[in-house]
Amino acid sequence: LVSRKKKSEDTVIDLKGEMVGAGNPSFVFGPCSVESYEQVAAVAASVKAKGLKLLRGGAYKPRTSPYDFQGLGVEGLKILKRVADEYDLAVISEIVTPADIETALDYIDVIQIGARNMQNFELLKAAGAVNKPVLLKRGLAATIEEFINAAEYIMSQGNGQIMLCERGIRTYEKATRNTLDISAVPILKQETHLPVFVDVTHSTGRRDLLLPCAKAALAIGADGVMAEVHPDPAVALSDSAQQMDLKQFDDFYNEIQKSVFIRS
Ligand code: PEP
Ligand code: MN
Repeated sequence: LVSRKKKSEDTVIDLKGEMVGAGNPSFVFGPCSVESYEQVAAVAASVKAKGLKLLRGGAYKPRTSPYDFQGLGVEGLKILKRVADEYDLAVISEIVTPADIETALDYIDVIQIGARNMQNFELLKAAGAVNKPVLLKRGLAATIEEFINAAEYIMSQGNGQIMLCERGIRTYEKATRNTLDISAVPILKQETHLPVFVDVTHSTGRRDLLLPCAKAALAIGADGVMAEVHPDPAVALSDSAQQMDLKQFDDFYNEIQKSVFIRS
């Protein structure tokens, strides 16, 4: 169902008026974790000031260590909903268990399925059974074929509103947190009709690489870029090292605007 052979025209997803996959690249910015209303609102104000529409923030955090901050849970979803309403933004947040899919419908505009859950087939099926756009991230060690099959799980249940997100894969390279597989973008565009995003924060794990990798993503045909922004990254409860502060965010966005072009 996700194959280009089944449907030749690009899937376009309407997120509160932002047409994802329609030609102009989309941008998803926001903190790694939702920590407080004030923290999310500060980023939302900056997103809004740029004329952007999409905000991210994790309420359920799939952390490598059980002793790390696990997220605010449904309280985090409530904060996102409040900010989305106040700033007229569409919010994207990760859901990690099928039991929370129904709850998520009331609070968020896009269900994110994270890298660690790309092959959580019950979660994929649950997200596929509801009428809510899904942003599916590539697994830490998933092949492109496995990634496409994960999207197929969602679509096979009836939900065709899927965005794919390349977020780096695990290789022997240690200079970056993961290895951004930039060639996955045109392959996914050829093989599927779905919008393709690149998450430059989790793929690189390095603030100094966010801009060049975002430029590369747009140049190679990505429909969107995701990056993390926090009002004070030094005190962030997760991913402190690679989130941009608001000034860095302004600079990043000004620079990336120079690379944006309308796809023919
Ligand atoms: C995230 O986007 O918050 C996240 C945890 O990313 P990933 O699933 O790609 O590691
Ligand atoms: Mn993060």
